[in-house]
Amino acid sequence: MKAEVNQDLCIACGLCISMCPDIFELDDTGKAAVIREPEAGEEDITRDAAISCPVDAIAVTE
Ligand code: SF4
Repeated sequence: MKAEVNQDLCIACGLCISMCPDIFELDDTGKAAVIREPEAGEEDITRDAAISCPVDAIAVTE
C-alpha cells in the first residue's frame, strides 16, 4: 500500500496524524506528509484516515 498527501489541498486539520501517528506527520510546511508507507495491520486505519480527510487530500493505492 502507498499513501500520498496532496499538500495543496491539506488544511492541516491534524485528523490523519491523530488517527495514524506512525504514518502521517505535519512537516516543515505545516501540512501533512507521509512518514513511511503503511505496513500490514495499518492498512485499514490508513484507508479510514483517507476517507475521513475533510478535503480528500489523502490518496491510498494498493
Ligand atoms: S486529514 Fe487531510 S486536511 Fe487534515 S491534516 Fe490530514 S491530509 Fe491534511
